[in-house]
Amino acid sequence: MRLTVLGCAGSFPGPESPCSAYLVEADGFRLLVDFGSGSLSSLQRYVGLHAPDAILLTHLHCDHILDAVTYVVVRRYAPEGPYPALPVYAPAGAPDRLSAAYGDDGTVDDVYQFYALQPGTFPIGPFTVTVDRVNHPVETYGVRLEHGGRSLCYSSDTAECDALLRLAQNADVFLCEASYLDGVDNPPDLHLTGREAGEIATKAAVGRLLLTHLVAAWGSEAHTLESAAGAYSGPLGVVRAGASYDI
Ligand SMILES: [Zn+2]
Ligand SMILES: [Zn+2]
Repeated sequence: MRLTVLGCAGSFPGPESPCSAYLVEADGFRLLVDFGSGSLSSLQRYVGLHAPDAILLTHLHCDHILDAVTYVVVRRYAPEGPYPALPVYAPAGAPDRLSAAYGDDGTVDDVYQFYALQPGTFPIGPFTVTVDRVNHPVETYGVRLEHGGRSLCYSSDTAECDALLRLAQNADVFLCEASYLDGVDNPPDLHLTGREAGEIATKAAVGRLLLTHLVAAWGSEAHTLESAAGAYSGPLGVVRAGASYDI
């Protein structure tokens, strides 16, 4: 598997990165996981405008879906003619949300073939995908992707929960959000800190921890990294837009 980070800014685009979007590739199949604000730019820069074979949206917050709205134009009005409907795995409200955001009083069903996510395991292309509900104010799915004996777990947005620990168990790579700073009074049931991400990585015995969804304007990358390193002794780092990882 190969992971390419198209965007990793938490909650709103940062000065150095679009919002969440991760391209995961295996056997020539490209699965785009989340499609946040600004990441359509990175898609073109690092992979290609029509690269995705399928999309998985972990939840319907703007910073994870809005470029799936912009992408309607790319597919529907391509000069070479409309592209076939692209499979989109997402919470059940996705068709209405994307249509409403697009406006134009129509649907986006000509562009996307929607499949409603439910907790469980299912195939997407060559991947074995397991999703489960995590601890965030809207219906949100953490994701585990497996292929060829390797595994990638992506937390999506979440506070601590058992589901995330199960999804991350023994993952080769754990791509985990660390939106909040340690040592301050954070709201409950929303996001993780660097220390919490490190603790989950240790409990789940992952091979590598990649921190994401940091909020540049409100946080401190150095502080988050240090907090995570205090709780997890394996290899870790903070991801950047454009970075690629072989898993
Ligand atoms: Zn988010
Ligand atoms: Zn969110």
